[in-house]
Amino acid sequence: MQMPIHLNYQGTTCAKCGAEFVAYKKDYFCPACGEVTAEYCDFAAETIATMKDHKQLYGNYFPQSWFSGSIADTVQGIIFELFDNYETEKPEDFTAFVLTQLEDAVWEEGQEHLAIQVEEIALEVFNIYRVDPDFKEGLLKEKPINPKLKEIQPKPADIPFDIDSGVGF
Ligand SMILES: [Zn+2]
Repeated sequence: MQMPIHLNYQGTTCAKCGAEFVAYKKDYFCPACGEVTAEYCDFAAETIATMKDHKQLYGNYFPQSWFSGSIADTVQGIIFELFDNYETEKPEDFTAFVLTQLEDAVWEEGQEHLAIQVEEIALEVFNIYRVDPDFKEGLLKEKPINPKLKEIQPKPADIPFDIDSGVGF
């Protein structure tokens, strides 16, 4: 069975207040306390790449099973589901749709700032999504699977994961 693809990036932990968040912009800061972080992950682009792979592997952005082992996994899982719902419902106003989708989300204590993060990241992903010809209706499902993906094996959590190729080594 094909395994879902997880990022090597697990999220950033604030050095000052300990909040976990996704540093998806350069020179980003902790959304809970404002402390600047040096960490950075091109999260929207990585999420787009994973969405393409999952669509080809599963027919959906959200894989058959998705284990959230980190903040980054949690945020990606929400984004995958959101875009699956978006393609089913085809709402005209994406921003309003995102807000409706996130309305009932329940965040763990100390993770409430993720609501804003997910919203911002979803909009950033959407800006790539809407102009990327790969996402034209049905196209990804018909494309041959990237040969690289066939070699992806279940990855034990303690083995380093190459974020550039998306393949464990
Ligand atoms: Zn902080």
